[in-house]
Amino acid sequence: MTDQAYPQPPARPTKKPLRAPSPAEIAKVRLLGHWSGFFTWLNETKRLEVSFFPGEPQACPAHGGASGEAFRFFPDADFTGGGICNSCAHVRAANGIDLVAGILQDLPDGHGLAAEAALAQSVAWADEYALEADLPPLACPASAVQVGRWLQADHNEAPTRYLISRGLAVGRLPAALRGIATMPAKGRFKTKPPQVLALVRAPDGRPITYHYIPLSEHYGRAPEDAPGKKGTAPLDKQIGIAGAYIELGAEHAATLIVAEGVETALAGAELFARARPEAGPPRVRAIQVGGGLKSQVIPPDVQEVIYLMDRDPTALRTRTPCTSFALKF
Ligand SMILES: [Zn+2]
Repeated sequence: MTDQAYPQPPARPTKKPLRAPSPAEIAKVRLLGHWSGFFTWLNETKRLEVSFFPGEPQACPAHGGASGEAFRFFPDADFTGGGICNSCAHVRAANGIDLVAGILQDLPDGHGLAAEAALAQSVAWADEYALEADLPPLACPASAVQVGRWLQADHNEAPTRYLISRGLAVGRLPAALRGIATMPAKGRFKTKPPQVLALVRAPDGRPITYHYIPLSEHYGRAPEDAPGKKGTAPLDKQIGIAGAYIELGAEHAATLIVAEGVETALAGAELFARARPEAGPPRVRAIQVGGGLKSQVIPPDVQEVIYLMDRDPTALRTRTPCTSFALKF
């Protein structure tokens, strides 16, 4: 009997391996949340005249103050390093690596570098700074690719409109939330609905991947039967997502709210602000990704943890020395 007597099963689709990240992608991910230090360091050690005041008009690091204060860092620049000059062609980027590369291209007096050389210089400085500032190493190459995708999704409209549609107040959009607008139809492809992308961190705080929430065409909740309802972008097995979380609130606060989802966590923060206005904004974490409640590592300076739990059999078993209580709903 030969093999041909039996029909062969269809070949299983092979999972596409994640491509290797570029040095620029690795640098952007390593410096997430560390850009204020980086630009200060550039100013002090490389004589690049740049002051770091996110959101405020200032003199341009490339062309100076000749046309007034034409340059500004974006309000979330400490997180992403992005900024824009209204006069310089290349000085505009949503991330610090490309911004510095653009500044280097547009520096007057013959200092302008070609695009490739400017990018290489920008990455080299980022590496030098990361080493000097003792920044933690990248979790794994895959995390640079995934977090790089999150970084490119800088469209604020999707998360803002989605949160409003869910009845949540949007004062200042949490830095972890980004979005992708509706993709117009191309050829035979259908219009892609918008998405919210939330940055996921490992227990030690390093950004590792993103969690995505597909929306309806009108930026509301996606229909229950929509394909690919929610999920987390894949990562190398070596890192895993146990204990991972999405940071949505204040960085340092005595109270930590932990919830099983972005929307629940933000609703909890709103209730907390109304119940205890004197306490200031709490820390807020959503943990719909991996591991669940018991794998959460509670930061040592947290004094109180409020768990907002879905009404299901999830066991609340944490070993935290602080006060903690759970609200089930
Ligand atoms: Zn300029």
